[in-house]
Amino acid sequence: VPTAASSPLAGLGSQIAALQECGHDFWRRGWSLGTSSNYSLVVARDPLELLLTASGRDKGRLGSDDFVRVGADGVPTSAGQPRASAETLLHVVAARQPGVGAVLHTHSATATVLSDLCSAAAGVELAGYEMLKGLAGVDSHQHAEWVPIFENTQDIPALAAEVGAALNGTATARPHGYLIRRHGLYTWGRDLAEARRHVEVFEFLFECELRRRGATAP
Ligand SMILES: [Zn+2]
Repeated sequence: VPTAASSPLAGLGSQIAALQECGHDFWRRGWSLGTSSNYSLVVARDPLELLLTASGRDKGRLGSDDFVRVGADGVPTSAGQPRASAETLLHVVAARQPGVGAVLHTHSATATVLSDLCSAAAGVELAGYEMLKGLAGVDSHQHAEWVPIFENTQDIPALAAEVGAALNGTATARPHGYLIRRHGLYTWGRDLAEARRHVEVFEFLFECELRRRGATAP
């Protein structure tokens, strides 16, 4: 169905197709099962607007109307759109960082278990792995990536404030992503390709960490 010119999704056909393909890939790999996960692209910067997957849609078979355009307040930019994900504000917080064009959230079994195992330390360090070079700006395996872990909650505005403070408060390098305990991963990139690469790299490294710690990889 062609998107009407007046639709908030007008002109976003290629971005929607890219997110549909991403969703099918992540669903097939077990990272976005049971309508979990959500993905967003920055479609306007000033003021910030995101193209975001609508709430509760099957990521393996996203339709062209399974998306919503939201503003920096997390609210749809116009009436008549599908409901946005409850986690919209977490996309906004990540997208507000300089140079971020895409934000991806996944619910893999590996991230779910590792975020629980390492919750007492409020993070997990990934260090010395060749695959760390898949993260933007990392050019040596001699790198230690700290992935913060936040407690899960249904109070998303509170969690978004906590995440925002952590992302903006570090004097050192910003993290490339973070975990929510027993829930999943948030990561991002300058564009969708980079954000997808970060999901792949993190998933690989999370599985390495689980195996190294003697846990059985799911
Ligand atoms: Zn989630």
